Amino acid sequence: MSKTIFEKIIARELPANIVYEDDLVVAFRDINPQAPTHVLIVPRKPIPRIAEARPEDAPVLGHLLLKAAEVAEKLGLKPTGYRLVFNNGPDAGEAVPHLHCHILGGRRMGWPPG
Ligand code: AMP
Repeated sequence: MSKTIFEKIIARELPANIVYEDDLVVAFRDINPQAPTHVLIVPRKPIPRIAEARPEDAPVLGHLLLKAAEVAEKLGLKPTGYRLVFNNGPDAGEAVPHLHCHILGGRRMGWPPG
């Protein structure tokens, strides 16, 4: 299997504006931001999407969510709020088959999502 864009970013084979990383996750600015702040946080492990996650992935997924909240706070989004989004499969608009959580903030979000 060829590497996804996000695996290449994790491996430093593609440039990215990284805002946080540790041994389990990497967070970087989305190249096509949909809000004033738009960051993606991804596991280093190449899990394709949440539907393919396995019970043994629970620690990394829990860590990813906690770090998403930390990154959002570090970027100043906590007081006004933010949205976390996982697009899973074609109907959701998933474009990159490497699990990622969108952190969106800095503007008022609509509901239901488009
Ligand atoms: P999704 O539609 O949920 O799969 O989201 C994929 C996201 O990856 C989109 O918001 C893209 O703008 C973003 N993206 C694609 N390529 C890059 C890249 N090289 N660096 C940062 N973000 C990217």
